[in-house]
Amino acid sequence: MKLVTFKSNIGLRLGVVRTNGGVTPIPGMDMLSLIEAGEARLKKARTDTGYMLSLAELELAAPIPTPRRNIFCVGMNYREHAAESLRAKGRPVVMPDVPVFFTKATTTVIGPTDDIPFDASVSTKLDWEVELAVVIGRRGKNIRRSEAWDYVFGYTILNDISARDLQHSHGGQFFKGKSLDGTCPMGPWIVTRDDLPDPHKLRMVCRVNGVVKQDWHTGDMVFDIPTLIEWLSRGMTLLPGDVIATGTPHGVGFARNPPEYLKPGDVVECEIEELGALRNRVVAV
Ligand code: MG
Repeated sequence: MKLVTFKSNIGLRLGVVRTNGGVTPIPGMDMLSLIEAGEARLKKARTDTGYMLSLAELELAAPIPTPRRNIFCVGMNYREHAAESLRAKGRPVVMPDVPVFFTKATTTVIGPTDDIPFDASVSTKLDWEVELAVVIGRRGKNIRRSEAWDYVFGYTILNDISARDLQHSHGGQFFKGKSLDGTCPMGPWIVTRDDLPDPHKLRMVCRVNGVVKQDWHTGDMVFDIPTLIEWLSRGMTLLPGDVIATGTPHGVGFARNPPEYLKPGDVVECEIEELGALRNRVVAV
């Protein structure tokens, strides 16, 4: 099932995308309350009938427009990307032996077609990162790898836009450079877990102004989704609606020779097989 959050004249609304391109609104709920309501409510949403809107005519917001807490992210989780990043920093190429975690502030989140703000007084080195994002469906702590899939609600696409000039200049931690407003395009919808049996078999592409910059597949993660959930939930409770960005493959701008960054007017597209695409324009503010 595909679930969308869309903009309407009475505010943000939740809906189910039907195979005929229609969207059935779910009244009185948002994405977080639907996730928390559990399996039975989800089943009902699947079969709910009622009036339909046309998906083509809707303006979509991020599926979870205001996450309850920061987006969890994983750095260096694709082999070639880890290698290109380390090379660009002049460090030895060694794969991490545990996942590299950091977070993005909730105020980074924007919709699948919203503009990415570019404020040259803050950063001139915005970079792209197409990522598969996992949405957690159930509260859990110390989740074992073997049971991790039970905690997954679904999947979406996320562009982990990164201000490279800030990313490493604040004590060596990523938070500030990953948390500028509008630097987390997300969507276009959540595909529920039952509709995507193998999220490790998906092609992922990032284009800037139509030119392919990243083109890889989700099967090449250093730590797969169950392993990430196991590590992240060790001694730390995961909540329904938490979002985990599982890392980006090689082809990012800062590791290119010469380095490339986004500039006003650029259009960045992130596409993942079975999940759709994000298309965001960079706009000077
Ligand atoms: Mg990233």
